[in-house]
Amino acid sequence: MNRALVVRSEACLLHVPSAEIWVGVRTPGTELPERATRIEQTLRAAGHRVRDAAAHDDDVLLRVHDPRLVEHLRTVHGRWMASGIPELVGQDRVVPYLMPTAGMLDGLPEREPVAVHAAAGRWCYDTMTLVGPGTWEAARGAVDVTLTAVDAVGGGEPLVYALARPPGHHVTRSAYGGSCYLNNAAVAAQALRDAGHDRVAVVDVDAHHGNGTQALFYDRADVLYASLHVDPGAGWFPHYAGFADETGRGAGAGANLNLPLPEGTEDGRWLEALDRIASAVGAFGASALVVSLGVDAAADDPESPLQVTHDGYERAGARLAELGLPTVAVQEGGYHLDTIGSLVEVTLRGLAGP
Ligand SMILES: [Zn+2]
Repeated sequence: MNRALVVRSEACLLHVPSAEIWVGVRTPGTELPERATRIEQTLRAAGHRVRDAAAHDDDVLLRVHDPRLVEHLRTVHGRWMASGIPELVGQDRVVPYLMPTAGMLDGLPEREPVAVHAAAGRWCYDTMTLVGPGTWEAARGAVDVTLTAVDAVGGGEPLVYALARPPGHHVTRSAYGGSCYLNNAAVAAQALRDAGHDRVAVVDVDAHHGNGTQALFYDRADVLYASLHVDPGAGWFPHYAGFADETGRGAGAGANLNLPLPEGTEDGRWLEALDRIASAVGAFGASALVVSLGVDAAADDPESPLQVTHDGYERAGARLAELGLPTVAVQEGGYHLDTIGSLVEVTLRGLAGP
């Protein structure tokens, strides 16, 4: 059997969100460091080669994201701890309480607020994505994992898996959320473009639409974003994006494909949608592929609105492998600790081809 090269980093374990705050209620959260350790254990046991990430500079990252967002994430927890809020109200994680929406500003310039608790909402669009002491190191470590994976593909590896944590596909150019901080898949696509691939496709199989990746490439003709996900129109995150009529804009018209699916979708219909996406990638003429590999569409995932099986994930990988493209698979969601490793492993088995 062909096996993937796996890239990982110890830094990815440093992010400990401690909670998510949803509709005002603090819950323990599910995006835990153990997700990464479980995946790594399973992949090592299955015989995949494992490599540590190498440090990379900020060049690609700062072209994908607004440099002010990157600087905010790098510094905000230190500013929060120094602000007195932890002593005042007992909150040691950065949580926004006010978001400056377009409706609030009504045309006024978006200023950088002085108070750190207000700045928190300038760059984050939900209350579920808390920043703690190791969040920056982990998110930046995930970027190093991703860039090391792209380097390995450039060196001739046909399939490299980036064990990136925290995930990234909900981050736009200048706003983070959805348990994501920096958009690893977008960094991979941009780095592949920089490495000489004229056209790159991003296929997102996470249960949720990757609104961040879509937004980052929405105006561009050189990167196709294609996603199958639970229908945001039926009330699912990210609610405001992921609809079928979002097909790209300007030069990017036609280079965005959303296939929203009903809650409860099983393998058959999910794989039909995946097949449509694979055909679109072929027609697009991509010379490299990024897979946003979320395994939270699996039936046993606590976050899952979809009912995909292990066999479904393996067959999805095999269908994408038929494209014959050098592939970087980047970890996104997936929260069931007992099966997250095996779901990733079977998908890589499919992606590695016969
Ligand atoms: Zn997800």
